[in-house]
Amino acid sequence: MIPYQTLFEGAYGLLTGFAMTLRHLFRRPITEPYPEFKRKLPERTRATIILTRDPDGDERCVACYLCSGVCPVNCISMQSAGRSDGRRYAAWFRINFARCIFCGFCEEACPTLAIQLTPHFETCQRDSLKLLYEKEDLLVHHGGKNSDYNFYRHAGVAMVGDKGSHIGEEQPVDIRTLMP
Ligand code: SF4
Ligand code: SF4
Repeated sequence: MIPYQTLFEGAYGLLTGFAMTLRHLFRRPITEPYPEFKRKLPERTRATIILTRDPDGDERCVACYLCSGVCPVNCISMQSAGRSDGRRYAAWFRINFARCIFCGFCEEACPTLAIQLTPHFETCQRDSLKLLYEKEDLLVHHGGKNSDYNFYRHAGVAMVGDKGSHIGEEQPVDIRTLMP
């Protein structure tokens, strides 16, 4: 014989399911006709990738290859180069969006916050060759989500200033002043 508790639980589950169905039967349907109506997506949405600039207008990307190294589908490639002041940059930078799975690993790995995913997702193409984005297609004229961040000011690279001149960096100690 089936115990009363099992019977009760079964009946409760069934009735809850029916009640839910009944509630939705009399609900007004909510239809958002896309593309006429476009819902504003959260800032953290992972879609089209951009390369951002620091507050001084310089390219943030220092061609460190971390994003291409971490990318699970190998869709980022680049060639590093150096400026006359020693600062590195990407001579060319390419993302194959036909392979990208928008996982966001590249954004997580980037030390300069250069590469960022945006909520813009309307990039479908029938010709997959059109999904090859070059640096000029990716580079924008703003800082994206973290517009105030400047990697070189924090990292303390000598070419930007002297030792002790970077944000949060202590002044160097003259060891001769420590002598008895
Ligand atoms: S989002 Fe993921 S798959 Fe796309 S480029 Fe970045 S690391 Fe690669
Ligand atoms: S986008 Fe970021 S992680 Fe990728 S090469 Fe440039 S600085 Fe390095």
